[in-house]
Amino acid sequence: MLEMNKETALVVFSGGQDSTTCLYWAIRQFKEVYALSFIYGQKHQNEVEIAREIAKEAGVRFDVMDVSFIGKLGQNSLTNPSIEMDQAKPDDSFPNTFVPGRNLFFLSIAAVYARERKINHLVTGVSQTDFSGYPDCRDAFIKSLNVTLNLAMDEQFVIHTPLMWIDKCETWALADELGVLDLVKNRTLTCYNGIPGDGCGHCPSCKLRREGYEKYMMLKYVAEKR
Ligand code: ZN
Repeated sequence: MLEMNKETALVVFSGGQDSTTCLYWAIRQFKEVYALSFIYGQKHQNEVEIAREIAKEAGVRFDVMDVSFIGKLGQNSLTNPSIEMDQAKPDDSFPNTFVPGRNLFFLSIAAVYARERKINHLVTGVSQTDFSGYPDCRDAFIKSLNVTLNLAMDEQFVIHTPLMWIDKCETWALADELGVLDLVKNRTLTCYNGIPGDGCGHCPSCKLRREGYEKYMMLKYVAEKR
């Protein structure tokens, strides 16, 4: 087992609302932070450039891994231009924005990358509260993978999931608490149509993000009035 540096963390970072909030959460928790982004054949690869800019401004080390094979393995609308994105979650299955295996690959690669740098803390912005119900965003999967990674490399990785039990409204509240509400609102990219900041306004991701923001601003307004 390697002697790990307990003061450093690696954030799986896409430049979106959730992982940017996690990046700043990690900056508060750890002395040194690395951010790792992935190219997985997503339609909007400008998200990697957005991630690079945010990481640079935040003063964290940034790296990109090309894992484009993930997009070629399965059918999904985030990587296949001929599939139109689901506007809503079907009753009995996942939306076609589900990229099978994505977080399994991302976190496994992140763990190997981290181990090379003697880092055992991994941070990911997955949330079980997320509307989509992607199985690889659930707490049981993350805990299971954590055990598997430790067994695979005989290490003591700790996967941190600051957003696991909070919704979009509370994620905005966390960003505000961390002092990056405006940065997250104006700079991050979560829109399925590839438009940063407030996005296209009508894709499922933009709707979820906006509804969370409006709810948070309303709660904040009410709290300040008191
Ligand atoms: Zn959008």
